[in-house]
Amino acid sequence: MKICLDKELPPEKEFEQGIRRAPDRGFRLNRKQTETALKNALRYVAPRHHKTLIPEFLNELKTRGRIYGYRFRPEGRIKAKPINEYRGNCIQAKAIQVMIDNNLDFDVALYPYELVTYGETGRVCQNWMQYCLIKKYLEAMTCDQTLVMQSGHPLGLFRSSPDNPRVIITNGLMVGLYDNPDDWEIAAQMGVSSYGQMTAGGWMYIGPQGIVHGTYNTLLNAGRKMCGVNDDKDLSGLLFVSSGLGGMSGAQPKAAKIAGAVSITAEVDFSRIETRHSQGWIDMVSDDLETIASMAEQAIKTGSNTSIAYHGNIVDLLQFINDKNIKVDLLSDQTSCHVAHDGGYCPAGISFEERTRLLAEDRETFKKLVDKSLARHFNLIRQITAKGTYFFDYGNAFLKAVFDAGVTEVAKNGKDAKDGFIFPSYFEDIMGPIFDYGYGPFRWVCLSGKPEDLDRTDMAAMSCINPERRPEDRDNYEWIKNAKANRLVVGSQARILYQDASGRVAIALKFNDMVRKGEVSAPIMLGRDHHDPGGTDSPFRETANIYDGSNVCADMATHCFAGNAARGMTMVALHNGGGTGIGKAINGGFGLVLDGSEQVDNIIKSSMLWDVMGGVARRNWARNKNAMQVAAEYNINNDNTDQITIPYEADDAEIKKAVDDLF
Ligand code: NAD
Repeated sequence: MKICLDKELPPEKEFEQGIRRAPDRGFRLNRKQTETALKNALRYVAPRHHKTLIPEFLNELKTRGRIYGYRFRPEGRIKAKPINEYRGNCIQAKAIQVMIDNNLDFDVALYPYELVTYGETGRVCQNWMQYCLIKKYLEAMTCDQTLVMQSGHPLGLFRSSPDNPRVIITNGLMVGLYDNPDDWEIAAQMGVSSYGQMTAGGWMYIGPQGIVHGTYNTLLNAGRKMCGVNDDKDLSGLLFVSSGLGGMSGAQPKAAKIAGAVSITAEVDFSRIETRHSQGWIDMVSDDLETIASMAEQAIKTGSNTSIAYHGNIVDLLQFINDKNIKVDLLSDQTSCHVAHDGGYCPAGISFEERTRLLAEDRETFKKLVDKSLARHFNLIRQITAKGTYFFDYGNAFLKAVFDAGVTEVAKNGKDAKDGFIFPSYFEDIMGPIFDYGYGPFRWVCLSGKPEDLDRTDMAAMSCINPERRPEDRDNYEWIKNAKANRLVVGSQARILYQDASGRVAIALKFNDMVRKGEVSAPIMLGRDHHDPGGTDSPFRETANIYDGSNVCADMATHCFAGNAARGMTMVALHNGGGTGIGKAINGGFGLVLDGSEQVDNIIKSSMLWDVMGGVARRNWARNKNAMQVAAEYNINNDNTDQITIPYEADDAEIKKAVDDLF
């Protein structure tokens, strides 16, 4: 083997104080599995070091529930550096290193030492041996090779060609019979499966800004639809209450602020409050409920968009709100309920520290407390919504977790989750119809690392948007116009901007031209969140507004991934799990390096279009109105090259009559 880890064992490492650490995931392997897990981790290291590493790896497994190989982590802080500071034989491989390092930045990642970027468990890869080997492969890679990544493991470099992907990634894919959290957990502890979630394992995370825009859109449209806010007004005077100030959830106060609302966000972990406070995304903090209430009252009275953090449990906050009849306009939750029993949800009645202890020492008790708390949480939401508050599930599998906790009345049909829940997910009511048009969280990273390049791309993107076309275009135009002033950058010089297919293609071509002409000082990485019209199949989130029965199918996301690979995206990813948990979603994403070449122009014209229109075509086939409209327009505009199959619609009354006769 020419490409392998360094011959000498790196020294054991100190952990920097104040950097958040992942909780112990609880050691659950039997004797045989433990032996295999050790052998699996040692596969990366020359045998002469095994004696040293066996007790060390065994200790990590026993005390943390995973082998992370901490000593292999490079010394100091990992950060996205400017692309020209990376080693490599092709631009694409250097660009990918920028993206990986950004996902592990102390300022960006949730648990950087455990390679977790966000969402409690969403990771770049499984361990530091993999990280080192991935880097070595990327440094050696030429434009005629593709790196194959299987659940964090770099399988090897294989010959391909310049118009093929440089990296193909899969994470957490399980054979159907074993596609459940328990079997997956064993595979993860044995070191053969990884939870990539979405852009964590797809290496396209751009910090919390990625979700700020989506949350802003969701809140704005929830206010318009449910609270009578006019299309051209913001949410001034409205109160939004939610929980979670973590990786993604931390976007909530900032998004509410940009949308003009007052917000209260409950968070049990004080370190996360501190992070958002230091960024200026939280204005005021208290652990006293009376103080919180008077801060909110004052902000509403003065029409200011104050963001308030409650240091405490969301259940206690909701109990107080209910008891005192405080008027809440919009209510949600963004605790990590997709892994509620793995530490994602802190039960009411215990401290955050006690939660961490129980998670490691007594998972049975922890699970019981979580389920009890979820049931109480749900009951409070019922009481508060009965007074006129609009509650929406914000894609964290909260309602599913309530159902799994034994509360069957949360299900619409009272027996299973197949017909959805009594409260809509934000996707059914708010974002689904917007996705049906093809709008989604398109993004880019200026690989020079220079803020002035980001400014130039912001201006260029703005020039591609016609704010008069649809209300969504106006919102997106406003977003990009104010993006710099809203100081959204954390980590790499990146921008999120919701766009549809034609908008994304236009902006991508413009950016590639700017790279070609030297109007920006380095190539640009384009991509998107996996949470996109075509990227994700998940009946509890992205495909919750698909009603033709195919919401349980994962064909769309698989085709999106395959089509992107075939058309030459620089990196493509396909994952199990996403934001709703193992077995509940299949999702994929891509990254495309704009190097200014004509070849990339061609990839943009075929691949970027396919990436979105594959999703619109499927949503159209599910008879979703906005998607049918876009598909019909697409057929006219692309008459010579493409065609989408449009559904014929049946007469509801005739169908009902025929079926009535049958039953
Ligand atoms: P995270 O784990 O980083 O943050 C969740 C936070 O909730 C943590 O800081 C935790 O301390 C806090 N918390 C847990 N229980 C609590 C309780 N009872 N009261 C108060 N605080 C509590 O995860 P994240 O990246 O912020 O993601 C959160 C959830 O949102 C995940 O399930 C994720 O899949 C989902 N998500 C949804 C979208 C979307 O587009 N709708 C996008 C991203 C993430």
